[in-house]
Amino acid sequence: MAEFHIPNDVIYLDGNSLGPLPYKAKNRALEVVNQQWGEDLIASWNTHDWIGLPLKVGNKIAPLIGAVQNSVVCCDSISVNLFKVLSAALKINANRTKILSQTDNFPTDLYMAQGLVKQLNGIGGNDEKYQLVTTDADVIFNTLEQDGNDIAILMLTHVNFRSGDSYDIERLTQLAHAKGVLVVWDLAHSAGVLPLSLSEWQVDFAVGCTYKFLNGGPGAPGFVYVAPHLMDSLDQPLSGWMGHKKPFSFDPSYTKANGIQQFLCGTPSIISMSVLDAALDVFDGISIARVRDKSIALNSFFQSCVEQLLGSSLTLACPFKAQDRGSQISFQHPQAYAICQALISKNVIADFRAPNILRLGFSPLFLRFKDVLIAAQILSEIISSEIFLKEEFHIKNTVT
Ligand SMILES: *Cc1c(COP(=O)(O)O)cnc(C)c1O
Repeated sequence: MAEFHIPNDVIYLDGNSLGPLPYKAKNRALEVVNQQWGEDLIASWNTHDWIGLPLKVGNKIAPLIGAVQNSVVCCDSISVNLFKVLSAALKINANRTKILSQTDNFPTDLYMAQGLVKQLNGIGGNDEKYQLVTTDADVIFNTLEQDGNDIAILMLTHVNFRSGDSYDIERLTQLAHAKGVLVVWDLAHSAGVLPLSLSEWQVDFAVGCTYKFLNGGPGAPGFVYVAPHLMDSLDQPLSGWMGHKKPFSFDPSYTKANGIQQFLCGTPSIISMSVLDAALDVFDGISIARVRDKSIALNSFFQSCVEQLLGSSLTLACPFKAQDRGSQISFQHPQAYAICQALISKNVIADFRAPNILRLGFSPLFLRFKDVLIAAQILSEIISSEIFLKEEFHIKNTVT
């Protein structure tokens, strides 16, 4: 709690969408703007090692996701990074043409795969060689078992953004490999809150964002993980100068950098990445296993408070046991949007996910059990009094 700025009287159950401001990040923002940019100007690329920031930040993220040093780099967004890793993986598995995913994966993941497939099939062409195939979550395993020999890449999100349902990364990765399939995991809702062992689980590729449980700030750059043994055989299409072996030789032809830096493209957003760099220091000396323990405890405490106060008048839209879901709880209700707006009007910040999900996230680094109890009381008042029926709670905002 002492590490974060949380506005007075606010109970913030949305750290899974936008992590709150760590004081260290705020101080770094001032330093990077006033001193590094303001006073030291362009020399800062060397003197403050701006040029080394993507790898330095990647190396801070690595232990949080169970990755070895120099296998993670910070850059771009999940969407852009997915385009790079999917392209690179398709080239490795060049005799296969299908990407398998889940129908209700986070839409940008599906959109990026659709865009890539369209590009590879030739703009305007009728060729259907490359395909994105999606199935329901509960049949992914069987689909892989039956049709795996035909699939190039398995692309999944570890924790589903609506339901909080999670996959067993290790088991699915093993099955995928047995079928010659490469895996790409999206860690958007797990990095910083669920224990991950990417190296041990032999994951090929992973992407993630840093503005959710990693508290890097709005639009903070994402990250890419690649298994070290794949580095040499990779070829990603966004071959910008920062991914060049020697960017400052200004060679007219592209030669990729050897390691994970080959996933860089253009100039990094230094201000945002510096803020993220400082935000990650909040995790110093904290084990993710303990973060997860508190996440489960907060999550199940909230659930039992709601059960005691409301019985079963709210329908869960997630696995019943907190152990079986990510660091969130979801309810399904036809008036989920209005309930969420009513909560916000009482300073309990949650979010709504279309079409009918009320989602509450538990960020263990700053939330207290007291906060969660008060939130459950306010939620039950809103439901029992039906105050959410008021017209003011039905006005739709652009961002929900
Ligand atoms: C938040 C989120 C994203 C966001 O992608 P960006 O390109 O970084 O905006 C992607 N995938 C999942 C699963 C998410 O939850």
